[in-house]
Amino acid sequence: MSKKSIDSVIAPPQPHFVGDGFRVHNFFPSAPGMNLQRMDPFLLMDYNSKYKFPPTKQPKGVGVHPHRGFETVTIAYQGKIEHHDSSGGGGVISKGGVQWMTAARGVLHKEFHETEWSKKGGDFQMVQMWVNLPAKNKMDKPNYQAIDHENMTIIDLPDQAGKIELIAGKYGDHIGPAHTFSPIHMMNAKLNADGKAEFNFPADYNTALLMIEGECVVNGAVSIPADHLAVLENDGERFTLSAEEESIVLILSGKPLNEPIAAQGPFVMNTYEEIRQAMKDFQQGKFGQLS
Ligand code: MN
Repeated sequence: MSKKSIDSVIAPPQPHFVGDGFRVHNFFPSAPGMNLQRMDPFLLMDYNSKYKFPPTKQPKGVGVHPHRGFETVTIAYQGKIEHHDSSGGGGVISKGGVQWMTAARGVLHKEFHETEWSKKGGDFQMVQMWVNLPAKNKMDKPNYQAIDHENMTIIDLPDQAGKIELIAGKYGDHIGPAHTFSPIHMMNAKLNADGKAEFNFPADYNTALLMIEGECVVNGAVSIPADHLAVLENDGERFTLSAEEESIVLILSGKPLNEPIAAQGPFVMNTYEEIRQAMKDFQQGKFGQLS
């Protein structure tokens, strides 16, 4: 088995606001060298690096909007996020908790800072990813999975290196709680200073690491600073992380779907005919109701 080398290390791109509550760096598809295919089945990554929101009585966020054809996966590292959707899914996440919303044939949803948290304000840090669905599942029934810290599979690493919080897929023989439609591994590595961890994913799986906190060296060679994304090559299976200081790393690896992508706004389908249909269905109220 050979080593996965580093393809690129991407500094956080200029941030922009999504609604008034999410100040995000878009690592993909928009950063140089990235596109909708490079991290297939992961379509998009918006990263709200740590940012202080002042106290407010009017929670900030993004109001009712539709999605079709994929899943939104939101991880709240600091602050609290409240979500509601037209299929009845909803909840509050914080401290590394995950909202895994399968939009599939269509939902309306809204995403806001939680009301009580908003009144106090404070540091806010989160990641939202869009995970593509296989063509055969794009028109499935919508679903919502709440995965808080207690539901994750926690794996203690040897030599007090830290722990893995497994969200989806596998780490060694351990299995994460999230249901996925294609093979995906997703986890947080929480490493102590000088802690080391090894990872092993098939070479063809698209793989990246986002440095949430701290700084880690990949393969004993390249240091990844906080808030940077390292995209790995598809040249081998194994890589190592060594923490220079206490660190949190989000690790993603997924088997590419290799299907055509037609994307427009909040819809991701396989053809533009299907995009036109999504717009029509949305206009005709077929995504349900949410106020
Ligand atoms: Mn959304």
